[in-house]
Amino acid sequence: MKRFFKIYLTAALLTAFLLTGCTTSAPQEAEFFAMDTLMSVKLWGGEASASDVSAEINRLEALLSVTRETSVLSQLNAAGSAELSADTTFLLTQALALSERTDGAFDPTVYPLVEAWGFPTKEYRVPAQTELDSLLSCVGTEHVHFDGSAVTLDAGTRLDLGGIAKGYAAQCCAELLKEKGVDAAILSLGGNVQTIGSKPDGSAWVVGIADPSDPSQAIAVLTFEGSMALVTSGTYQRYFEENGVIYHHILDPQTGLPADSGLLSVTILAQDGTLADGLSTALFVMGLEEGSRFWRESNDFEAVFLTSEGKILATEGAAPFLSGCEYSVIER
Ligand code: AMP
Ligand code: MG
Repeated sequence: MKRFFKIYLTAALLTAFLLTGCTTSAPQEAEFFAMDTLMSVKLWGGEASASDVSAEINRLEALLSVTRETSVLSQLNAAGSAELSADTTFLLTQALALSERTDGAFDPTVYPLVEAWGFPTKEYRVPAQTELDSLLSCVGTEHVHFDGSAVTLDAGTRLDLGGIAKGYAAQCCAELLKEKGVDAAILSLGGNVQTIGSKPDGSAWVVGIADPSDPSQAIAVLTFEGSMALVTSGTYQRYFEENGVIYHHILDPQTGLPADSGLLSVTILAQDGTLADGLSTALFVMGLEEGSRFWRESNDFEAVFLTSEGKILATEGAAPFLSGCEYSVIER
């Protein structure tokens, strides 16, 4: 803790930042439901419309959903082998690389565990340890045989790209909007925010980090310029309660249990949306100490941790963007 020093900012500052959100030219705005979450888009200028964004997300969901029988991923999980399209090849390559980089904290083979807990169907249950132990023998990227386009899974192994799919979708939409000449946009895909360019009135982007006890409210605010991916993984995003115990959806691939790493959420800031999404899941599993060590060894992201005790800690590069809360800085 010697490396951390405290900074205090007042709630008045939060109010001031929120008030700067008005713009000179009216953006196109839309909300829609996809990938099992409420999404929103706001965009300024260019040839694109908000429906281009929802069409792109629907296209990706049709490939990547583990609950749609017709998706490429479901067909792979059912048959145990498949030839992948360009999108799924890219995403599986990213997922396997992230798994290796995070020493398995991010693991795209957690699906048998995710299913045992009932998260895809929302028919929640607490699996017996013996059941988890037997499923864990099929979890691990050593069970995935991938030659760059054809993939084969060992018996019982199944993939879930839900830990990076929304970040990838945001990145694909950003590319599409840039191609269509959009000047500025902000996409919010259920915990994944992607900004593009700068607003016509020159005001900064202002993005809240959800308060886990009331996710409709911000516990902290990030204010910044330009294009960025900001992705939060948190216990409050998907969970169920049984006998007074909360079971959330981010699983520790070592134990098969919801990761109990002393965190309520992790927000990652990066240029790459897929990376930001994968790392938000991985650093949640790692926890504060291990996640900080991982950040010190990296140079392609920043992070804001929210601990179970209600403390907020921001890496050196994220701290200048953070306001509206009391926080400590994690130094390099
Ligand atoms: P996120 O909200 O991005 O943290 O992703 C969580 C989703 O990814 C879960 O709903 C699962 O579908 C899947 N998942 C859960 N635990 C892991 C893990 N350790 N590694 C990769 N994906 C995971
Ligand atoms: Mg993620």
